[in-house]
Amino acid sequence: MIEQNVQKLLESLPKTNPFGEKVTLVAAVKLQSPEDINRAISAGITDIGDNHVQEFKDKYDQITGNPVRHFIGHLQTNKVKYLLGKVDLYHSLDRYALADELSKRGERAGVVSSVLIQINIGNEATKSGFALEDADEAYARIKAMQSLKVKGLMAMLPDVDDEKELTRLAKLMREKFEKLKQTDPDIQYLSMGMSGDWKLCVECGSNMIRLGTAIFGKRNYQN
Ligand SMILES: *Cc1c(COP(=O)(O)O)cnc(C)c1O
Repeated sequence: MIEQNVQKLLESLPKTNPFGEKVTLVAAVKLQSPEDINRAISAGITDIGDNHVQEFKDKYDQITGNPVRHFIGHLQTNKVKYLLGKVDLYHSLDRYALADELSKRGERAGVVSSVLIQINIGNEATKSGFALEDADEAYARIKAMQSLKVKGLMAMLPDVDDEKELTRLAKLMREKFEKLKQTDPDIQYLSMGMSGDWKLCVECGSNMIRLGTAIFGKRNYQN
């Protein structure tokens, strides 16, 4: 199953998005066993993303194939210390306190962390992230932090079926990304798209998608 899913996805993923950028597929591995994650890696997954610090720690040494490590979940400031130096890209810088903590700890340890600024594009109470209208200020302030390198933006679209609205929001994200990218060569990634909406997101200019269900099947929250 996992092998077929990965193969199908890699085949159906366009080589580039409409902006000519390569699209990176990140496997969202929350609640998956190290065995299943390693199967996905053997099948061609190059990047994996965790949501939970405890899971990340527990599984860290059991992952084979040396994938690129992403952290895609909400991160408590008191847990930054467990991740520092082990994560290649943090997708979810959603508040200044987290950016401060990551930068300060990084400075002390001599670690520069690559980050994406999370935007709450649907202004949803259930999601974290900066409002789109605060994105420029967040970018400027976080970029000024010593031990952080801002590499782009991340967003989760609302879980609704209205394609027109989803397209509108995804395009707003691309516009903001585009503006930052024009003045800052470090800006490379627009992380947007999950199993249900990744095609639409790539069409609108996402170049990094995070897929769980499409690779591993429905998550089992019982275990
Ligand atoms: C779980 C998760 C995903 C993947 O969701 P699926 O719908 O299973 O593809 C993507 N991004 C984040 C931040 C997640 O927590």
